[in-house]
Amino acid sequence: MMDRLEATPGRANRVALISAPWPLFDRPSIQLGALKAFVTKSLPDVQVDAFHIYLKIAQAIGYPIYHAISERSWIAESPYAALLYPDRIDEIRRYWIRKARRHPLLGATDFEGLCGQIRSASLALIDGRNWECYLLVGFSICLAQLTSSLYFIREIKRRAPGLRIVAGGSSCAGVLGEALIHAVPEIDYVIRGEGEMPLAQLIEAMRISPRRTEPPDIPGVICRGDAPKEDPDHQIADLNDLPVPDYSDYFCDITASGPRHAFLPKLPVEMSRGCWWNRGGSGCAFCNLNLQWRGYRAKSPEKSIQEIEALVNRHQVLSLSFMDNLLPAKGLEVRFSGIQALGLDLRLFAEIRAKTPRSVLEAMASAGMQEVQVGIEALSTSLLRKINKGTTAMDNLEIMKHCESPCLPDLTGNLILAFPSSDSRDVAETLRNLAFAFPFRPLKGIDLWLGYGSPLWRDAHRYGIRVQGNHPDYGHLFPPETLKKFRFMMVGYHGGVKAQHRMWAPVRKKLAEWRTFYDRIHRRPGFEPILSYRDGKNFLIIRERRADDEPMTHRLKGASRAIYLFCETQRSMNEIAERFPRFGEDRIRPFLRMMVDKRLMFSEADRYLALALPQKPFLSMRA
Ligand code: SF4
Repeated sequence: MMDRLEATPGRANRVALISAPWPLFDRPSIQLGALKAFVTKSLPDVQVDAFHIYLKIAQAIGYPIYHAISERSWIAESPYAALLYPDRIDEIRRYWIRKARRHPLLGATDFEGLCGQIRSASLALIDGRNWECYLLVGFSICLAQLTSSLYFIREIKRRAPGLRIVAGGSSCAGVLGEALIHAVPEIDYVIRGEGEMPLAQLIEAMRISPRRTEPPDIPGVICRGDAPKEDPDHQIADLNDLPVPDYSDYFCDITASGPRHAFLPKLPVEMSRGCWWNRGGSGCAFCNLNLQWRGYRAKSPEKSIQEIEALVNRHQVLSLSFMDNLLPAKGLEVRFSGIQALGLDLRLFAEIRAKTPRSVLEAMASAGMQEVQVGIEALSTSLLRKINKGTTAMDNLEIMKHCESPCLPDLTGNLILAFPSSDSRDVAETLRNLAFAFPFRPLKGIDLWLGYGSPLWRDAHRYGIRVQGNHPDYGHLFPPETLKKFRFMMVGYHGGVKAQHRMWAPVRKKLAEWRTFYDRIHRRPGFEPILSYRDGKNFLIIRERRADDEPMTHRLKGASRAIYLFCETQRSMNEIAERFPRFGEDRIRPFLRMMVDKRLMFSEADRYLALALPQKPFLSMRA
């Protein structure tokens, strides 16, 4: 009641932004934080309330189960689909059970009970607020937020039919947004690209004439009934002009929720938007992460560093996640040296390319980078070429080796299985190269999903597939008549899918063996690498740990030692021959061949990489 009395006079100056489940609960929404800061800076008399509804739902159902759901996008779309379409509950429950059965927590969860909990918590949040006090309510809809957002939109609009609703985010890019506004009558506007400028202009237009019925003509904003149009550019030209994201609402919510729900949050930060590898839209074949941006923009190193310092000071949080699809290519060492110079004991996470040099990894580690998600995707160079990754199997093995060192960040990475157009040679090459990867952290095998707008989707025939429309799994969640109106992020395709899965089965098996082997070796306390060396200045002892046997040692003397150390980063045969002119290729080649046969080195296209890591950092860690 207080809310209503206070708010009604200020309706024209009040806007709500909502992020519905299922983003990771332990961090504020960067979308809401960036939009709130920009609108507040552009329209200082507008009050923006940012609702991290996902945090409230996480608290209602418990963090462990929320976290497990939020990591799985199909599973995440199920509970709110059941609330949107209760007469489809049997179908959706069967789908949930099939998807969740291997997960110990989700597999044991009563789906209907969970939906009941989510429904009560969601309705309590909706009914606890007077939505009519807002001029506009905006929803940020990204991956795994579609059904939850649709549910909140429907229920809020039921309670406040005159309220205007705008949707934006990556799930509204391009024709996805056009389809959304036509399929969902409760949505009044869609922003189908970067949100800041269109949202601020939309708010301003609505403030000037709140009762207007004709659609505002704002670049980036589409209204029901609009014919498809090409928008003039509506992006921020220079990211340095952006204000520091405003996460105050999220941190107020945490404080208000009391010690029972306490946890250590992380801060999302961004240095760039878009992906420099995707310039001209020809990045990695499977990738559609950059649909809402045009081109590539990066903040200056100074701006990035100042922003980190400001956010850390403001929220007193030391764990940060870079939300960039890919960190900037240029000046990374400078950026991370600058972050290190702040003198903060940070814990950082970022996504990087496999070609990131060791010197950059070192600068990152000094700044506090603990984990990097590396775009590995394949261990076959021929397949990496088809994916247009711009890397080789050797690049991947090199960064996997570097990141095994305790001085550098831990690596996580995926191996895409059954990529369209992959063939038996790609599988054979992957199996061969996997044997060299066993000393390093195992990769996760993942199935490809075809993303709307990706190069693979745009050029499907080149990869021997036929695009089918929405991914068939949406058919389990949405009624057929609704399904026809939507265009979703994940797309179905035909063309050798089963044959691909059969062909890649041995790789799947090998990945499981790798995981078992690695975990078994590292079961003992104290991390010691599987393949390491100790240097005696004119000789080298390589130690190879084995699962069922005593470690094996290999001794290299004189020039053999020097060549091995020279190949700490990958070297071509020419570079090696030039560096060791006394021996000549004829004498060097048999040595390198022997090293490769013993899997102490990896070779590809006449390039060589030593696989053992220096033991020194591990020894000093134990001392
Ligand atoms: S996968 Fe990463 S590197 Fe590749 S195009 Fe997408 S964002 Fe860029």
